[in-house]
Amino acid sequence: MREDAIDAFERVAGQGSFSLGEELEAFESEYAAFCGSAHCVGVANGTAAIELALRAVGVAPGTEVITVSHTFVATAEAIRAVGATPVLVDVDPRTRCMDPSLVELAVSERTAAVIPVHLYGRPVPLDDISAICRSAQVPFVEDAAQAHGAGFDGRKVGTFGAAGCFSFYPTKNLGAMGDGGAVVTDDEQVAAIVRSLRHHGSAPRDANRHERVGRTERLDNLQAAILRIKLRALEAHNDHRRRAASLYRDSLEGLPIDLPSEDQRGARAVHHLFVIELDERDRVREALRRRGILAGIHYPTPIHLQPAFRDLGYVRGDLPATERLAERVLSLPIFPGIEQHEILRVAEALKECLATRA
Ligand SMILES: *Cc1c(COP(=O)(O)O)cnc(C)c1O
Repeated sequence: MREDAIDAFERVAGQGSFSLGEELEAFESEYAAFCGSAHCVGVANGTAAIELALRAVGVAPGTEVITVSHTFVATAEAIRAVGATPVLVDVDPRTRCMDPSLVELAVSERTAAVIPVHLYGRPVPLDDISAICRSAQVPFVEDAAQAHGAGFDGRKVGTFGAAGCFSFYPTKNLGAMGDGGAVVTDDEQVAAIVRSLRHHGSAPRDANRHERVGRTERLDNLQAAILRIKLRALEAHNDHRRRAASLYRDSLEGLPIDLPSEDQRGARAVHHLFVIELDERDRVREALRRRGILAGIHYPTPIHLQPAFRDLGYVRGDLPATERLAERVLSLPIFPGIEQHEILRVAEALKECLATRA
């Protein structure tokens, strides 16, 4: 994509239009079309996407927002940024995502929104989440930062709730050459508020009239131009990840580890990460590293045990499935360019590491 990226750079530099211009508008309409939503608003990063979407759906300071503890810290940060309190529920150990039945129990009169996180690129059971939120009359905002292009019942994730939030951090399935994010929605009002908030709360046709206290959270034209190029390859890249995941599955069969469960009930995952679970995770990770294979941990400390969220009052033992995952998850290398022989080499190395005791 190098040549295309250089062309894009020259085009944007030639126009001298770096902020709120044609490239951004073009990317927004292309990404909205890709997702199958009416509107897309480009923002500066995924965290801002969640924060501004929460404000746009009416989450006010002093309310509660239900999400999971087994996620990247940004989900909870965005809730805090709007002045709301994160209420953290445990995950379903099979999907490693939000357990809908626990959301039902956590809903109270203070609940202003629910954030299901499509972690590792696997769609949360959106039929159950939709039904629970509908009956509780609470909007939900999807954190789809790891799930660009993932599907549920034939529709793309991000289009089920009041808004869908994406990050274009370089390592995500759709990544910019720097930071970026977007909110997709079918609700014109939500789109208009996010559009205003990302640009100092400005009115649609009068940038000097500030209707609300906003922020500087625009997606810039250069990143938008790069994202347009990469968007064309997203389906192919996701297919590559699917093939890589299925080869991992075949090559790791029979080992004393837990593989990610297969897609269930209409879900179509995009394998942002390929996460196995195992005992002695840290020993095996170090042994892999010595063989030149870098495996990650997403995430070693859940939100409810992070120092920054200590005031929420959770203690170890509160979310047992989440805490067990934090001790056992290991992310094997997966990316659109990974080759068959590399996957087989990782699988072989993992076999050896599991066979040799500490
Ligand atoms: C990456 C990520 C975010 C935040 O995106 P940034 O662009 O880094 O701000 C939010 N939620 C999840 C689940 C993520 O993986």
